[in-house]
Amino acid sequence: MRVSGEPSFRESVDLMFNRAARLLDLSPGLEQKIRVCNSTYTVRFGVRLRGKIETFTGYRSVHSEHMEPVKGGIRYALSVSQDEVEALAALMTYKCALVETPFGGSKGGLCIDPRQWDEHELEQITRRFAYELIKRDLIHPAQNVPAPDMGTGEREMAWIADQYARMNTTDINAKACVTGKPPHAGGIQGRVEATGRGVQYAMREFFRHMDDMARAGLTGGLEGKRVIVQGLGNVGYHAAKFLSEEDGCKIIAVIERDGAIVNEAGLPIEELRQWMNANGGAVAGFPRGTHVADGASLLEAACDILIPAAMEGVINLSNAERIRAPLIVEAANGPVTFGADEILRRKGCVIIPDMYANAGGVTVSYFEWVKNLSHIRFGRMQRRAEEARSRLLVEELERLSADKGLGWTLAEDFKERFLTGSDELALVRSGLDDTMRTAYQAMREVWHSRQDVEDLRVAAYIVAIDRVAKTYRSKGL
Ligand code: GLU
Repeated sequence: MRVSGEPSFRESVDLMFNRAARLLDLSPGLEQKIRVCNSTYTVRFGVRLRGKIETFTGYRSVHSEHMEPVKGGIRYALSVSQDEVEALAALMTYKCALVETPFGGSKGGLCIDPRQWDEHELEQITRRFAYELIKRDLIHPAQNVPAPDMGTGEREMAWIADQYARMNTTDINAKACVTGKPPHAGGIQGRVEATGRGVQYAMREFFRHMDDMARAGLTGGLEGKRVIVQGLGNVGYHAAKFLSEEDGCKIIAVIERDGAIVNEAGLPIEELRQWMNANGGAVAGFPRGTHVADGASLLEAACDILIPAAMEGVINLSNAERIRAPLIVEAANGPVTFGADEILRRKGCVIIPDMYANAGGVTVSYFEWVKNLSHIRFGRMQRRAEEARSRLLVEELERLSADKGLGWTLAEDFKERFLTGSDELALVRSGLDDTMRTAYQAMREVWHSRQDVEDLRVAAYIVAIDRVAKTYRSKGL
């Protein structure tokens, strides 16, 4: 979506970068080096489908190779363009730096409506696209590691991994060429929900800081907060589900392709998603809410928290003035344009920026990549040892209590939790939680300590650019 008079997505990202770069002491040369996209490869390939040759256009853009491999998803959508993948690749550079995943930034895309093709056709198309990228090292465990994005998921990643393995039969690290694979094909527990889980952890961290909440005019915790979510895809669905089921948020509206579904008492997210699955992705007709045909109008409804989790540019010059949410959490990449960002800042709206809010995906991708390179599941060596030590302590406490006639009894549910060693999923969650907390604290430190830093987005860019600059400097650039 592009409103006339607004910069393109890539220009918007550059303008946001410039706001932060101005506040940093970078040489103009280094600033320019960090801002620009290193390369974008465009490929047009034909696949014989339904009796004729269909030509597809795909991209893989590498924004910064200050660290390798470079990382970022592959998007399947008709809206994919060079401008879009370059903007998204740049965001990946800053995102990875902010959450300290040791990668440069990249992004890929294929102009396709995945719903138009059957599974076996999509497999053919994906394998062919992957082939084109693999032979140029644009998919490679040490150089460029894709992941899912809009329109792709575990299934596509498994095809890509298999395609790479077929073309590199002696590469012992072949599985690390792509992340977001299904667990049975070299993936990791918790990757599918990682971005949504990261949004939840980001919000929990924000709500731990009273002075940050005060800037948005919010008080209390997440419990009872009225939330509007745009997009019930992988990210929006998991974020909405966890926030409502675990943190007591009320999801009062979900905006989807065919309109919005509204329920002031809070929507049952799992049920809504089941409904959508059974109705070709439509929300209309869902019995536990009211359907509003003009879905986008709900972006402007009164609520405590607005979570755009769909496309870029949905909050723009045409609606920013009317947005009423005091807190926006950017679960999507680039949902707020540069111009809208300025308007929202003036209105006092706090924005938890994309490069932080949705970094849970790449964080768990990092864990998956490390798992693939180490060829062992997390927790396999430690889990039972951890349980044995805990058991020793519990047994000793019980022995002491019996010996001294103290009559202590440990609660059964405490014992059960204490005696359970961490499996892979528990470790992934712990690593993700730690990452989200640490990154938030780095951002807020800049936000609060510098008079010239107005908002969290500039703070995030400052942290990220500073880290990228340090890496370049230490390489002698
Ligand atoms: N596509 C996701 C993103 O925008 C994940 C990238 C990754 O895991 O490499 O952050």
